[in-house]
Amino acid sequence: MYSDLIESKRKFFKMGKTKDVSFRISMLKKLRACILKYENDILHSLEKDLNRSKFVTYSAEIMPVLKEINYFIKNTKKLSKVKRKKTPFVFFSYKSYEMKEPYGVCLIVSPWNYPFLLTFSPLIGAISSGNCVIVKPSEYSVHTTKIIEKIIDEVFDKNYCEVVLGGGDVVENIIQNDVDFIFFTGSSKVGQSIMKKASENLTPIALELGGKSPCIVDKTANIDKTAKRIVWGKMLNAGQTCIAPDYVLVDAKVKDKLVKKLIFYTEKFFSKSPLEIKNYPKIINEKHFARALKLIENQNVVYGGEYNRRELKISPTYVTDVCMSDKIMKEEIFAPILPIVTYNNMDAIYGIVEYNKNPLAMYIFSRDRRFINTLVKNIPCGNLCINDTILQVSNYNIPFGGRGKSGMGVYHGEYSYNLFSHTKGVFKSNNIIDISIRYKNDNNLKIIKKF
Ligand code: NAD
Repeated sequence: MYSDLIESKRKFFKMGKTKDVSFRISMLKKLRACILKYENDILHSLEKDLNRSKFVTYSAEIMPVLKEINYFIKNTKKLSKVKRKKTPFVFFSYKSYEMKEPYGVCLIVSPWNYPFLLTFSPLIGAISSGNCVIVKPSEYSVHTTKIIEKIIDEVFDKNYCEVVLGGGDVVENIIQNDVDFIFFTGSSKVGQSIMKKASENLTPIALELGGKSPCIVDKTANIDKTAKRIVWGKMLNAGQTCIAPDYVLVDAKVKDKLVKKLIFYTEKFFSKSPLEIKNYPKIINEKHFARALKLIENQNVVYGGEYNRRELKISPTYVTDVCMSDKIMKEEIFAPILPIVTYNNMDAIYGIVEYNKNPLAMYIFSRDRRFINTLVKNIPCGNLCINDTILQVSNYNIPFGGRGKSGMGVYHGEYSYNLFSHTKGVFKSNNIIDISIRYKNDNNLKIIKKF
């Protein structure tokens, strides 16, 4: 059914236009101009989809996309250069190179929580690396999906880059028709199913998934700053952020102090009536709203727990005395609900994190360098931020991505360029000197061992 959609991109790719770096850069410039033109529409669409403030949408979605376009306009030429590599001495008459080669036709599948950012950030990398792209945005963030489609339609030739609308069935169909690379952002469950389908054609894939990101608070931490930064990072977009702290793991000695401060900053940022605030974000749909409320059933809610079913809003909620066997500790929360778990020693930290191992992100709040270094070395996770939350994602000089159940493949900046390219090794003979030892037999074993 989608074979024509893929075939048109394949034809465009074979024409070789995308191999030209100046073409890629001109496309990025055109895209930047179009995003600036529709900036207000983007802000409004996210207000409609998630009831988000313009400030949050601009700083968390539009600004990083513009920054990344600027990065690639400046760096694509450099990134695309063929690199000379070392050659072993015995091959002294040969030359070695590393070349980045675009995959061809890429499929980008994006979620609803930061729909603009998570569509355009990988798309910019794919274009910069010289690919043709099919983009499948989320069916839930309907207003943003419309503006994404409008921008892509206006900037690109349909045979080069095109939006396709729909749900999971569309994605499955496209994958069956054999694309050259898949970039998926979404839940671990769907990621697993996509990977299975991709394996039928051995299509390379990057998975940017979710998970339970722990926020570890040591007794030496500055509790005031810690609480302030946790509240900000957790409650951003009503907890619907893939790298939001999913649960707090705090030294039992400072738990009460931390809870008090969490409540203090929650009221400072959201007042005592958060549900009345005009731009307090909503949960994306009824299904996720009901799922989130189920997580606090029969739990010890020490603060919050209010909701508005008609507007799909849940107030910032803190839960204590949870067990690892509770539902709230078994699945990604993705809502403004924060369980607080205590620990008494290092082994307890390892044990608790191990229940949901390989989290997408991990946060450590501490002033003890040894404590920080021990955790950094011993707990595997996708990415890490020390004494703050969320901000690691804003630096395009470091890679972003998960491991295990939280995903595979890293992107942003140079890492995106590498991800959307096959790295080809090239070995070149000068055709004058022939290394004749290779034509010998067992009688020459001693000589070859000397090499
Ligand atoms: P989702 O997995 O339900 O959907 C994501 C995309 O996959 C959508 O475009 C959807 O149409 C498509 N899809 C749905 N079912 C499919 C199927 N069976 N086969 C193929 N495609 C299918 O995720 P969501 O609810 O949109 O987003 C929330 C999840 O995404 C959370 O788990 C969150 O942690 C994760 N996430 C991860 C990152 C990251 O960078 N790692 C960023 C944002 C969100």
